[in-house]
Amino acid sequence: MARKVLVLEDESSIHSFIVINLNRAGYDVVEAETGEEALERLREDPDVRVALLDIMLPGIDGFEVCRRIRATNTRIGIIMLTARSQEMDKVTGLMTGADDYVTKPFSPAELTARVDALFRRAGGGMAMEQAGEIYQDPFLLNTRNRTLEKNGVRVKLTQVEYSIMKMFMENPGKALSREEILDMVWGKDYFGELKTVDVNIRRLRLKIEDNAQNPTYITTVWGYGYKWGF
Ligand code: CA
Repeated sequence: MARKVLVLEDESSIHSFIVINLNRAGYDVVEAETGEEALERLREDPDVRVALLDIMLPGIDGFEVCRRIRATNTRIGIIMLTARSQEMDKVTGLMTGADDYVTKPFSPAELTARVDALFRRAGGGMAMEQAGEIYQDPFLLNTRNRTLEKNGVRVKLTQVEYSIMKMFMENPGKALSREEILDMVWGKDYFGELKTVDVNIRRLRLKIEDNAQNPTYITTVWGYGYKWGF
């Protein structure tokens, strides 16, 4: 499978730092310096599995690029590149459909760990997955197509959201700590922040709950984590 990553970054020093390190880690890099260019590259190159998106850009910003990618593509993994001072940007980025974020400045190890983790989610591990279905009224999870239906209607999920749903449906009624969720969904070698779990679950609730303000499927276990049901 093609190991292609899109890098959207307008600052040339950061841009080349990322490209060099991804090349070293064995990735093919598709490069863009504006949002418009990134969308164009993705149209030309459907093999891209992961996109790294800077936020502050000339022209359309990284959030808008993320939104436009997600409007047509739920499979690709998206990582936002945020500045240390832009704490709120992380949440905004994840809510617009990104799977993760990396805060500048970041080390090569941190960058490649994040990309590796998403790469596995975005299809790398698919062949190893048991084909089949998990049904828990009103949800039907198809592990072959990696799709979810609620009451027979397809719910469009990102790969990370799908992995979270699968984890929950395989562990009904069990309280899962945020650390456990991070390990199960993102992988043990991943050193992300627990907040990533919270924001992804917040976004998932908007898609699957009858009322996201009063969730009944994914319930919060205060001071610990989350539980599937009931
Ligand atoms: Ca920038």
